[in-house]
Amino acid sequence: MEKNPTLIFTNPATGEKFGQVAMTPIAEIHLARQSMHTAARVWSHTPVAERVKILRKFQGVLVDALDEISEVMNLDTGKSRQDALIEAFVTIDMLQAYLRHAPRWLKHRRVSSGLYVFKHCYVDPRPYGVVAVIAPWNYPVALSLPPVLAALLAGNTVILKPSEVTAATGVLIENLFHRVPELSPFVRVIHGDGAVGAALVDSKPDYIFITGSTLTGKRVSQAAAEHLIPVASELGGKDAMIVLEDADIHAAAHWGVWGSFFNTGQTCMSVERVYVVESVYEEFVRLAVEETKKLGVGFSTDIHNPNYMGPVSDPRQVKTIERHLEDGLAKGAQVLVGGKRDEMFIEPTVLVNVNHDMLLMRDETFGPLMPIMKVKDENEAIRMANDNAFGLGASIWSRDLERAYRVAHQVEASSIVINDTIAQFAVPMLPFGGIKQSGYGRTHGKEGLIQFTRPYAYVVGKPPHDWDIATIARKPGHYHFLASVVRLLFGVNTRQRMQPVKEALSTTARQKPRLALGVGVLLGAAAFAGITLLKKSR
Ligand code: NAD
Repeated sequence: MEKNPTLIFTNPATGEKFGQVAMTPIAEIHLARQSMHTAARVWSHTPVAERVKILRKFQGVLVDALDEISEVMNLDTGKSRQDALIEAFVTIDMLQAYLRHAPRWLKHRRVSSGLYVFKHCYVDPRPYGVVAVIAPWNYPVALSLPPVLAALLAGNTVILKPSEVTAATGVLIENLFHRVPELSPFVRVIHGDGAVGAALVDSKPDYIFITGSTLTGKRVSQAAAEHLIPVASELGGKDAMIVLEDADIHAAAHWGVWGSFFNTGQTCMSVERVYVVESVYEEFVRLAVEETKKLGVGFSTDIHNPNYMGPVSDPRQVKTIERHLEDGLAKGAQVLVGGKRDEMFIEPTVLVNVNHDMLLMRDETFGPLMPIMKVKDENEAIRMANDNAFGLGASIWSRDLERAYRVAHQVEASSIVINDTIAQFAVPMLPFGGIKQSGYGRTHGKEGLIQFTRPYAYVVGKPPHDWDIATIARKPGHYHFLASVVRLLFGVNTRQRMQPVKEALSTTARQKPRLALGVGVLLGAAAFAGITLLKKSR
């Protein structure tokens, strides 16, 4: 019998192997899907308050496991213990906010019943069933757990496929779920590469949440479309940072460098290209180089070690970064600091003389390159920022917040920060996601939770009442009545609204003129009052 291939846990900084896990066999994935489907019947009927209670226990598990989480992620990705802890912090912060708000967001709500005045109407947000979460390697906790926990809170069962590059963190997450026996029957973690991810899509989950490259997002969407499975896709980015002449240049350089090199540039909303207005360009470049020279590159397992920039976590990514660098240099880019590689470590690199013919200004680099380009003014900065296929995040720097906001509105990206970088993802209540080639999914915020439900609609009442407008409208022979209702309720001017009154009066006038006059006055007044009240109530 063929042995299951294994994923070997490898520290990218040292090359040291520190464990392994067997890939989940493809046949087992369909069984996992079936068992989660069965389990969903129980979990979806568990009251929201009970789900909150159980997930709060999981929050406790996460807090107890902080050191364990930072230790495993440190070995798995090479990032520092403190940077790993930031991931856990962001994740727990989001879970806590969700536990507070979910009961309100998941309540069934009453809506207007329109012309069915004797009925009540409700919308019930109900779970999809089985949600598949496919995760990347760059933030193996903060990009796996938030969608998993949101989907669970919403009443779905979940199958998580962590990245093959950070399989040790995937195993840890699986283990953390097992520490809450009330929760573990409702979530499964499967291990493997893209083929396992594809098999998960093929197993026909009810909803798919994928965070990954644009290419993978498209593949998953295409496969899912075959079965009409909805997909939320959180894909690549090429975020622009715009520095206007009235910006705090010191802060912009400091946080711009941080936003470019945090997590070794392996952040979907990292600063991937910088546009600086010409009057402050020289100063910004000088300060950015100064800031970059202060950065240490290395690896340590010590929690007291001052922060450093770690290795690239995925060997495949090294090739992309080098290709972008070589292409830029061949086309005239100039390296002001950095530019060298030692195994998996690439120095934080600041480049100038860059243009949009270069890969490093066009495609996602996902590494420690910070290309800076001079622009004439605000308008050119916006034009350059928008000259790109991606639309995830952006940052705008100006002391004039109104101006920055106005610029932000013109930038084609949907997660924008003013006077900071990479702050969008860390705010639990802000829906995070992209437009254009960055996908259309959202995580965090109310939208990040509600997406895991579908609105079920209910019309409730006794059998149709004879005097209900809707009942009369449905009975044959009421053409004139219906036309009058439409004119009275939906007329956009006095002529349209008064037409039914006029018609009624002229019929009566022919038969009883005096009565018609009296009735006419009364009807007119009543119609106006009625229409005004109805319009207000709708
Ligand atoms: P990737 O696309 O290579 O892999 C992502 C996940 O998809 C992995 O688990 C992988 O095994 C799986 N996968 C690969 N092929 C598959 C297939 N055909 N069917 C199903 N699953 C498949 O991405 P990555 O290299 O792990 O992550 C880096 C990418 O993720 C970057 O492009 C980055 O910008 C993006 N990202 C986006 C966000 C966001 O929120 N928008 C956040 C982080 C990372």
